[in-house]
Amino acid sequence: MIPARFDYEVAESVEQAIDLLGSRDDAKLLAGGHSLIPLMRLRFARPATLVDIGRLSELSYVRERDGGLAIGALTRYHDLERDELLRAECGIVSYASGLVGDPQVRHRGTIGGSVAHGDPASDLPTVLLALDAELVVRGPGGERTVAAADFFRSFFETALGPQDVLTEIRVPKVEGGWAYEKFALRAQDWATVGVAAVGSNGTARVALTNMGTTPIRAQAVEEALASGADASAAAERAGEGTNPPSDTNGSADYRRHLATVLVRRALKEVARR
Ligand code: FAD
Repeated sequence: MIPARFDYEVAESVEQAIDLLGSRDDAKLLAGGHSLIPLMRLRFARPATLVDIGRLSELSYVRERDGGLAIGALTRYHDLERDELLRAECGIVSYASGLVGDPQVRHRGTIGGSVAHGDPASDLPTVLLALDAELVVRGPGGERTVAAADFFRSFFETALGPQDVLTEIRVPKVEGGWAYEKFALRAQDWATVGVAAVGSNGTARVALTNMGTTPIRAQAVEEALASGADASAAAERAGEGTNPPSDTNGSADYRRHLATVLVRRALKEVARR
């Protein structure tokens, strides 16, 4: 389908984007367009104005910052997958970026767009939750930092206000092992279920894709590991506290089963790395 009529503005700075969002009714940011445009074509979204930030090249980078890494919100999956610094110091982000969609999606889609969109089936938000990432947001009141754990509020709902621009994602360097396990029925699909795990010495932070209305931490698994359970025993608790959807890719029960299998695999991979 063809989107409803809209106005189009190109922002030349973050500040201009914030001003444009404030001065137009029902305006939305456009980054890579690979979530927003499909929604507009289906007429699930009908913004009156698009504010294009896709050309703000100053928001595309991976760099060292305070012992961790800072990633610009407009960095595309393709660049994240290939970035040498990221691969060496926080390989889970590079690796998961390489599993998103197809090459066309990875050449256009941005990490910031994925995070801001708030789709619980997306891969990078889960990875960022497992990493305890921090998200830097600029809005009319200045800049603030939001922990990933506080950012994802509900289905397609985040801590971003209507005039906010997500500018940077801060992740730690990963000292121990990591894994991202994604199961999809067809190659290049969204995850039916995904599991991100980061850890060392038998403990791990574990997060789940598509097991609720937001990406969620597998708290029961983490607690089991902390009290000495092995990977298989801890993985048995992967479904606790989840609320997975039932759809054409699988029932909620099937997803809970998948989560157990994928958590077990992820924990074994963490230990191996
Ligand atoms: P856009 O579509 O431009 O924007 C998405 C939303 O975020 C909009 O509401 C926009 O206003 C807002 N926004 C964008 N940037 C910012 C910002 N910096 N600050 C504040 N708000 C912002 N994703 C996966 O995770 N895994 C997959 O396997 C997968 N497969 C896909 C397959 C196909 C065929 C397609 C079309 C998409 C797929 N995606 C998948 C989604 C893809 O990752 C999107 O690119 C991503 O979710 C959104 O990034 P974007 O830059 O395209 O954002």
